[in-house]
Amino acid sequence: MREIERLDEMRAACAEARAAGGRLAFVPTMGFLHEGHLRLARLARERAPRVALSIFVNPLQFGPGEDYERYPRDAARDRGLAASAGVDLLWMPSVAEMYPGPPRVTVAPGAAGDVFEGAVRPGHFGGVLTVVLKLFEVVRPDVAVFGRKDVQQAALVRRMVTDLGLGVAIVVAPTVREADGLALSSRNVYLDAAARGRAVLLSRALGAGVERFRRGERRGDALVAAARAVLAAEPGIAVDYVACIEPGDFTAAATATDACVLALAARVGATRLIDNVVLGEGLEGDVRASG
Ligand code: AMP
Repeated sequence: MREIERLDEMRAACAEARAAGGRLAFVPTMGFLHEGHLRLARLARERAPRVALSIFVNPLQFGPGEDYERYPRDAARDRGLAASAGVDLLWMPSVAEMYPGPPRVTVAPGAAGDVFEGAVRPGHFGGVLTVVLKLFEVVRPDVAVFGRKDVQQAALVRRMVTDLGLGVAIVVAPTVREADGLALSSRNVYLDAAARGRAVLLSRALGAGVERFRRGERRGDALVAAARAVLAAEPGIAVDYVACIEPGDFTAAATATDACVLALAARVGATRLIDNVVLGEGLEGDVRASG
């Protein structure tokens, strides 16, 4: 595995990798790698002979008062994990080189970027799409792998690729979960023992929605209510939103189908977590972390 910081060096290394290997797959991350990220890297490896993974905590996608400064970082640990997952090019660009000044030209995500996560975190998806476009421009991947854990992000990246004609195949991988159902997240490190205990209710809430769906309920708001009821029982959890979403256009679904996504965001103490499930797949459609 080759480790690179500079943009021009990464651009040249990716061109070389494409020339040598034919295809290049790319996994963008913010680091503090866990089994969810590693699974994306392994899927990338199945799609292409060469894999690039970036680690960049993107200041542009954090709002004022969010956790940009304290976001967990551990380059030494990430290096070992990336190598073990078969990454060829590990790219850790500096903020100074990615943003020599505040960018004046950015990507506008459109209406689907202003709802759900975008409504709670104004400007978030503009920051995400801008950095993804910049990363894509350097790496020029044939295929890029994203996690369904960030389902709205994945949908917006797909749309950007289509609307801007970027010619990158987008693969969206199922969410990797702990044995009790908690979705793996770099932010789980913020949870103390009590909050970790409560955090399991997020996936249980999704499970309650899926259960109602399986018993025949198709009204989106009834599925949302079933999930909300699980979270409402715990005073240590503050819900930002629970929504039944049409995956195509990211509008609220009045009538749920198998393809609809039940998504939620909630604060467990001071830690904000997101999770979602595809109704037709249920939590079984996701992956359990081993060990
Ligand atoms: P992040 O480092 O949190 O920005 O995530 C980088 C990529 O990993 C994104 O495409 C995420 O959706 C994906 N990801 C994060 N957590 C998980 C998980 N538990 N399972 C699968 N993919 C994940």
